[in-house]
Amino acid sequence: MSTRTVYRHVAHTIRHAPEGGITYEAFCVTAGCDAESGPHDEQVAAQDWALRHTGRTGHDLFRRVFTHHAKATRAE
Ligand SMILES: [Zn+2]
Repeated sequence: MSTRTVYRHVAHTIRHAPEGGITYEAFCVTAGCDAESGPHDEQVAAQDWALRHTGRTGHDLFRRVFTHHAKATRAE
């Protein structure tokens, strides 16, 4: 007696999903510092974090990441 699992391929398409919003993050890239803003819904929140971090530490270079979302839907 053997069992068999069948995976049926279903075609999907993927596209930008505005409803997912955009996430803004900033990462300090000064050597030895791994501070990061964490994800924010507002760009100004990540910027404010960076400015406060510079004020506290003098670190002045950041990697900024803007993330949008994508949705996969079944193609029929
Ligand atoms: Zn830093």
